[in-house]
Amino acid sequence: MKKTAGIHHITAIVGNPQQNVDFYASILGLRLVKKTVNFDDPGTYHLYFGDEDGSPGTAITFFPWDEGHRGKVGDGQVGLTSFVIPKGAMAFWESRLAQFKVVFSKAVRFGEQSLQFHDPDGIALELVEREEGKTSTWQFAGVTADTAIKGFGGAVLRSIQPQQTTRLLEKVMGFARIGEEDGYIRFQSEADLGNVIDVVKTPSERGRMGVGTVHHIAFRVEDDSDQLEWKQYLEANGLGVTPVQDRNYFYSIYFREFGGILFEMATDVPGFAIDEPKEKLGENLMLPPQYEELRPQLEKILLPITVRTRD
Ligand code: ZN
Repeated sequence: MKKTAGIHHITAIVGNPQQNVDFYASILGLRLVKKTVNFDDPGTYHLYFGDEDGSPGTAITFFPWDEGHRGKVGDGQVGLTSFVIPKGAMAFWESRLAQFKVVFSKAVRFGEQSLQFHDPDGIALELVEREEGKTSTWQFAGVTADTAIKGFGGAVLRSIQPQQTTRLLEKVMGFARIGEEDGYIRFQSEADLGNVIDVVKTPSERGRMGVGTVHHIAFRVEDDSDQLEWKQYLEANGLGVTPVQDRNYFYSIYFREFGGILFEMATDVPGFAIDEPKEKLGENLMLPPQYEELRPQLEKILLPITVRTRD
């Protein structure tokens, strides 16, 4: 059996891009590590936020569709995205969210306290304190190394066929089943970030893709050859897998798992410093070679965005 290290990135559909940057960079303090376009729809941005490098296990990414149709959160999607903060940072985040008028609630799942809230488009998020996971060195507007989000804690999956999804995670993708409580089954992988997946045991209503919903969740593979092994292995397990797509910062294959959720397997390499220096990540619009000649038109279509401090 093969094993994924855990989550590589999570991608959601949101509305206005500046509103997206203001929330994830200015309030949550993540680094905008890449400003590029959706390679399948170059008239729209693809924005990536993460730790200082956008390391695998830290990158939340967005397709902003300003004025796009709203989706509906439900089964067949990631229902909640969890971020890890350092031990002792919860009080800081409570007051920071309050300062920016982000409504939050407190919850407990598998014995862990969390702060739960939504981004401006309705994406469900939470913060949990954990010891593990490398400290992010990216500091922004009051978020310091001892409070900064380290990366993903994990995700809650809402499946239309939870038994199939849990079987896939445990028997095919190499997650360990570590607990069951209050309607969730918990799985864990070996990485120290992006390593916890909770599956909701009982299906409810089907989701619909659109603004305010998660589009897909990507899991980590090492490199090109590991990815080809995964492709064959997933196909041998009955999944319909796409050909390898060059995403410039990683290579990807996609499949819709039996519970309706779009899964991707993305390589850890080459990473975001492949087309701009690490100190300048996210500052300029970076285009893959096939779209470079469209740059003048794209720069006119895409709404300008800036990373700025907010009061
Ligand atoms: Zn992706």
